[in-house]
Amino acid sequence: MSQRPRLRAIPTETACPICGKPVVPKHRPFCSVRCSRIDLGRWLGEVYRVPAEPSADDEADQPRRSEDDDEH
Ligand SMILES: [Zn+2]
Repeated sequence: MSQRPRLRAIPTETACPICGKPVVPKHRPFCSVRCSRIDLGRWLGEVYRVPAEPSADDEADQPRRSEDDDEH
């Protein structure tokens, strides 16, 4: 069998995950600023849906100060 296994190894890294267009090195891993913004918007949207991550970051800073103040 001399089929080309390359067909299966699709270079996903060279395709914009938003629109599927060829990626522009300047805007990796997207094809343009527009798509990178769309992706960012999706991320922010998901973050707002799950308040666990941003909250953890904020809380991690608060107890640190309190402990430092108490020990001194
Ligand atoms: Zn794109």
